[in-house]
Amino acid sequence: MADCCNQPGLVSIETAKALLLDAIKAVDDSETIPLAMAVGRILAEDVKSAVNLPPCNNSAMDGYALRMADAQTDGRLEIIGKSFAGAPFKGKLWPGTCVRIMTGAAMPADADTVVMQENVDSDGHSIRIRCDINQGDHVRRRGEDVIEGTVLAQAREQIAVPHIALLAAAGVGEVTVKRRPQIALFSTGDELRQPGEPLGNGDIYDSNRVALRAALEALDLQILDLGILPDNKAAITKALGQAAHAADAIITSGGVSVGEADYTREVMEEMGEIDLWKVAMKPGKPFAFGNIRGVPFFGLPGNPVSALVTFHQLVMPALMAMKGAEWSPPANLPAKLLSPLKKKPGRTDFQRGIFRNDTSGALVVEAVGAQGSHILSGLAAANCFVVLEQEQGSVGVGETATVVPFCRSFGAW
Ligand code: AMP
Ligand code: MG
Repeated sequence: MADCCNQPGLVSIETAKALLLDAIKAVDDSETIPLAMAVGRILAEDVKSAVNLPPCNNSAMDGYALRMADAQTDGRLEIIGKSFAGAPFKGKLWPGTCVRIMTGAAMPADADTVVMQENVDSDGHSIRIRCDINQGDHVRRRGEDVIEGTVLAQAREQIAVPHIALLAAAGVGEVTVKRRPQIALFSTGDELRQPGEPLGNGDIYDSNRVALRAALEALDLQILDLGILPDNKAAITKALGQAAHAADAIITSGGVSVGEADYTREVMEEMGEIDLWKVAMKPGKPFAFGNIRGVPFFGLPGNPVSALVTFHQLVMPALMAMKGAEWSPPANLPAKLLSPLKKKPGRTDFQRGIFRNDTSGALVVEAVGAQGSHILSGLAAANCFVVLEQEQGSVGVGETATVVPFCRSFGAW
C-alpha cells in the first residue's frame, strides 16, 4: 500500500477512493416500479422512446396557422377554422386561408408557419399580417426533441426529476431499476445517548447515527438501524455478525482509533479483513474499510465532522457504485479566499467554507470559523469544502483555493 508524506500506513485520499471503488460490486438484482416512485433510483436498462416528441407538428404560440406561400401575397387571409390543444382542425387549407390556432394545438396538415396573434390585424373573419415572417416560425416540429426509438435514459443513470419529466412525456409508466442496497448502521460509544434521554456527566447525544441515517436516505438506500453499541468487544462482535448476515454493507462510527476502548479494528481483524486503515485527509484520518464475512464494512471516525466528511468523500462514491450508478462528483470550482487558512503539509484538508459571488461576480470563499472535527456548527453553516492539497501549506487571503460544493441534503448530485 502506498505510503505518503513519510508517515507509514497513511494512504492518500485518491488511493483510498480507488481501493474502495475496486472493492465494491454493484447489486445485481432489479425490479420494475412506477416512474413516479423512481427518483434517485438507478436504471437497470436503457429506456427507449416509443413515440416522437413532440408527437406531431404543433404551434408554439397563440396565433394563426398558414402556408408560407399564401403569406407572401399582400392580401388578407380568410380564417376558415380553429385548432385547439386536444381538438385539432380537421379540414384543409386552400390558397388565401388560415386557421386560428392555440399553443400546443396540432398544425393543420398543409400549414407550415404560425404568425403570432400580436402581429396581425383581425376582424374576426380574416387577418392581415403586419410583420415579416419566415417559413416554420413558431412551429414545434414532430420529433425535434426525441425521435421514436432513441434512448431517453441509459442503464446506470440515476433518475432525477428532469428524467421523470422526459420519460413521462414519452408515455413511460414504469421503469426497471436496480434493487436498493440495504445498509446496516450503528454507533459505538459508552458516552452516547439518544436524543430525549437525560445526559449524565460526560455523555453526549448520538448525532452521527441520525445524520448518517439522513444522508443514507438522501442517497435512496435502505437502512438497517442497529442503534448504539457499548464499547464492548462481545457486543460489537455480535452486532457485526448480525449485520453481515442481513445487509449489503455495514457502516459504523466511533471506536476506530487506537484508544483503549476502540474495539472495532480488533473485531474486524477477527471477523474479516481490513483493507485500509488511515487516510491522509483532515478531518478523518482514522477511517477503516474492509469486510466482515465478505460484506463491505466502513468504519467512520467518531468525531462528528470527520464522520460526515469521510462519508461524503469516501463512502458516498462507494455506495453509488454499489447502487450500480455511473456517477461522478460535482465539478471543483476555483475561488478567491476571503480568509486565511492554516494548514500543515501531509494530509488533504477539507475545510468548511461558504462560497458566493462578490459584487463583481467573482467567486469568493471564506472559512466558516473554527475547523475542529467536533465543530458541527461550522459544518451546518457551510455550503462547500475548501480543499487544500496534501502537500500544500497555509494559504493567504486573495489566493485561489479549490471549492467543492456539496449538496446540503448530502444526496448525490
Ligand atoms: P472515538 O472514535 O470512538 O474515539 O470517538 C471520537 C470522538 O467522537 C469522541 O469525542 C466521541 O465522543 C465522539 N463520538 C463518537 N461517536 C459519536 C456519535 N455517534 N455521535 C457524536 N459524537 C460521537
Ligand atoms: Mg468511542
